[in-house]
Amino acid sequence: MPKLNVDIVTAEKLVYSEEGVDELIVPGIEGELGVLPLHAPLLTMIQPGVLRIVKGGEEVQMAITGGFIEVRQNRITILADAAERGDEIDVTRAEEARRRAQERLATKEVTADMLRAEAALKRALVRLKAAERVRRRRGGAPPPPAS
Ligand code: ATP
Repeated sequence: MPKLNVDIVTAEKLVYSEEGVDELIVPGIEGELGVLPLHAPLLTMIQPGVLRIVKGGEEVQMAITGGFIEVRQNRITILADAAERGDEIDVTRAEEARRRAQERLATKEVTADMLRAEAALKRALVRLKAAERVRRRRGGAPPPPAS
């Protein structure tokens, strides 16, 4: 059975580059998209969500804040706005970002800033979800409640 080559890049860096990947589960704009070897060619958008990479029985959880995925002959390229592995996420920073965004959204004024706050809230929630999934898989203790 052929395997997948996966590259995940942002404007800043190469976040992930592996051969021998078995499956990728991507938050596509039309819902979760599973990509197995021999998948048909594809170019589509990604929405903020948790990306899962399955390789040799191990699963990597990654927060991705949007971008594009291209599938071509078992080679997958993801151009991401931002992407972090679940175990590299700074949970305190994401909680702060969530709190700031929620504060901005709590004001009744409708401004362009609200759209930015909504996007920032989505990014923060996706990061917290990816970090939480990694923590649960490892059977770690829950984080202390946010103050
Ligand atoms: P913040 O307000 O905390 O900066 P943000 O959503 O505005 O969050 P982005 O603009 O999406 O941040 O990302 C900027 C850079 O910081 C990217 O390289 C991204 O991977 C990284 N990053 C953002 N939040 C976190 C986090 N909680 N943990 C680890 N890296 C993060």
